[in-house]
Amino acid sequence: MSAATTPLPETVQRHLRPRQLFIDGREQEAASGQSIEVRNPARGELLTTVADAGPDDVNRAVQAARLSFEKKTWRGMKPSDRERILWNIADLLVKHRDEVAMLESLENGKTLREAMGGGVLAAADCFRYYAGWVRKICGETIPVDGPFLNYTLREPVGVVGAIVPWNFPLQIAAWKIAPALACGCSVVLKPSELTPLGALRLAEIAGEAGLPPGVLNVVTGYGWTAGDALARHMDVDKIAFTGSTHTGRALLKAAAESNLKRVSLELGGKSPNIVFPDADLEAALKGAFWGIFTNKGEICSAGSRLLVHADIHDEFVGKLSDRARKMRVGDPLDKATAMGAQVSEAQMNRILGYIQAGVEEGAQLRCGGERDTEGDKAKGYFVKPTVFSEVTPQMKIAQEEIFGPVLAAIRFRSPEEAVEIANGTMYGLASAVWTKDIRLAHRMAAEIKAGSVWVNTYNNFDSGSPFGGYKQSGFGRDLGGHALEQYTAVKSVWVAL
Ligand code: NDP
Repeated sequence: MSAATTPLPETVQRHLRPRQLFIDGREQEAASGQSIEVRNPARGELLTTVADAGPDDVNRAVQAARLSFEKKTWRGMKPSDRERILWNIADLLVKHRDEVAMLESLENGKTLREAMGGGVLAAADCFRYYAGWVRKICGETIPVDGPFLNYTLREPVGVVGAIVPWNFPLQIAAWKIAPALACGCSVVLKPSELTPLGALRLAEIAGEAGLPPGVLNVVTGYGWTAGDALARHMDVDKIAFTGSTHTGRALLKAAAESNLKRVSLELGGKSPNIVFPDADLEAALKGAFWGIFTNKGEICSAGSRLLVHADIHDEFVGKLSDRARKMRVGDPLDKATAMGAQVSEAQMNRILGYIQAGVEEGAQLRCGGERDTEGDKAKGYFVKPTVFSEVTPQMKIAQEEIFGPVLAAIRFRSPEEAVEIANGTMYGLASAVWTKDIRLAHRMAAEIKAGSVWVNTYNNFDSGSPFGGYKQSGFGRDLGGHALEQYTAVKSVWVAL
């Protein structure tokens, strides 16, 4: 029996009943009574439904968050208790990891292995990291002129609206919620309508861990209704967003047209992965391969532009394509699967549209390039790992974020040319350089306009290290101490002595 036909464990099935909104510590129906279908993209089947939140529901969630904030049910708690509760959330995520990872795999199409490592365990680590910050967020005393004591208070900004995407539903939710809670804020989370199940489970777990009602609320709904209502709400103090550049612009507009709430944006990327001839080419090959095919290419930091020095280009791209051809694509619940299904039919079609554009613009298709419909995969939304070579920097597939398993290989001849190509898109999220020349590595790290530069490695993340964009990849940082700046306001207090 394949993993796909094995009955799901009871612990998972329990969370596949029709789901409601999570407001003020309990499930609540949407005012409209409408629901949204959540589908399994690997099987094209209905998993369950969730409530379709409209503006009234968002308002109810914001009111619950506001009340908890003003009554200080969370921010007024002893810091050591808040630290313990955040730590408890991490412990409970780890305790329920099998069930939570399976939910994420089922709703997203990623492999169970990816849902575990880059999902549940990464989210748990993020809560632990920010648990450690609770008792360390503090102001400063400043030596001002005159007979005054001047000091600063770092206060929570208030009610945070977190709007997160479908590619790492749990991890990215944790990147917003954990620092917001560490700072004493209350949160309304709007997950993608494609992947709401992990977010609802997280809210339940947070309640079990001791988080008071109203401090974390989840509104499942569409972006243009629930997301927009949150972004325009006059009583939301901050929006923390990860998603497309297009939506990022809409959020800035919504903030400008409402209460000038703070906005931080982690947007798309078209990250260059640059390989010099002196690199450890086996390691670079592995880095290039997983740089694009991790999470089926649906990752903002994907190394979707492979810049290879002309001296090694043909051999390197040839080996990479051979490896991609052999990649095992299929049932995400099967441990032997390396790459699962794209998140939705629409996303698959979008990816196939980009592949078509690459062919039409004259890039050379080295492998893949089509939907994978072998066997059971015909029911789901699978795309074969795809490599293009002879890509020029201005082609659409070299400029736009595809968000799928499609690699564009570009030839370069000098470090200067590599920098020019690397910086030649509107994005600036991540990048990598492969070389044994330490001077070249540091020079490149300084010249590339991106929020992350990996040297002889790819896609490393740590809860302590900041992540975010340059240019139109956004602003503000997730993770590390820098994220705390997004969720605190600084107050200057003057005392005449
Ligand atoms: P979106 O930016 O539309 O979605 C991200 C989140 O924003 C979702 O929760 C979405 O809700 C919500 N949203 C959408 N429109 C609005 C709005 N007007 N106001 C408030 N919230 C809104 O990404 P898509 O899902 O449409 O994906 C499209 C492309 O975006 C991808 O192919 C990829 O290129 C890029 N992307 C980048 C991501 C990243 O990590 N940087 C993540 C996801 C996508 P809902 O899904 O319910 O509509």
